Amino acid sequence: MRHPLVMGNWKLNGNKAMVSDLIKGLDNALAGVEGVDVAIAPPVMYLDLAQQLLGKAQNKIVLGAQNVDVNASGAFTGDISPEMLKDFGATHIIIGHSERREYHKESDEFVAQKFAFLKEQGLTPVLCIGESEAQNEAGETVEVCARQLDAVIKTQGVEALLGAVIAYEPIWAIGTGKAATAEQAQEIHAAIRAHIASFSQNVAEQVVIQYGGSVKAGNAAELFAMPDIDGALVGGAALDAEGFAAIAKAA
Ligand code: PEP
Repeated sequence: MRHPLVMGNWKLNGNKAMVSDLIKGLDNALAGVEGVDVAIAPPVMYLDLAQQLLGKAQNKIVLGAQNVDVNASGAFTGDISPEMLKDFGATHIIIGHSERREYHKESDEFVAQKFAFLKEQGLTPVLCIGESEAQNEAGETVEVCARQLDAVIKTQGVEALLGAVIAYEPIWAIGTGKAATAEQAQEIHAAIRAHIASFSQNVAEQVVIQYGGSVKAGNAAELFAMPDIDGALVGGAALDAEGFAAIAKAA
């Protein structure tokens, strides 16, 4: 039985006051919400503050991060290692987000290296995959997602996906307010699961596949009602405690 995960990706937003208000507000708003794992990924600068606040929270909120490097230490200016993230209690690490693939030219292979390093360090990769609008219009969605997944499967084996999270995020839906319909998303989630099943039925049945792209309180329930959608990776709507808690409730 898969457990849904609703994770907030705060991106490059916030300051100390906002992190504090948002975590406290979220903790209050989450009272009584069950049957879903809830995680937040604040900017790495605020992990220390977030860890302290989450230590005092009434509800279990998992701490995550938005990126990691492939190196453990050394002359890699500006980079953050898995050990550093662990030091602040972060367990769920987003990798391969389309913004990093686009603005930082991260390749499938580089993202797969991050995936391997996180697993080796006992952390949970939240592996983002998804197609651009042009790829979607060209009918290449499943092929693109399969290629991004294969960078991990073919180098680390399909079993590497066990315990990891996949976030299917069509790029055209991210931050645009134009979410995939529940039916569109289900079709691609089922195809992603079928692709994984072509390597291992067991892994396909167990792996959590979140949907991401303009998820809000208003469209979350219909997305989560789909059999292959296991929660969501949420950007903009994660910056509002009530709205984010409503999404978690819908899962
Ligand atoms: C994201 O960036 O991972 C995301 C899903 O953003 P939004 O919810 O704002 O579309």
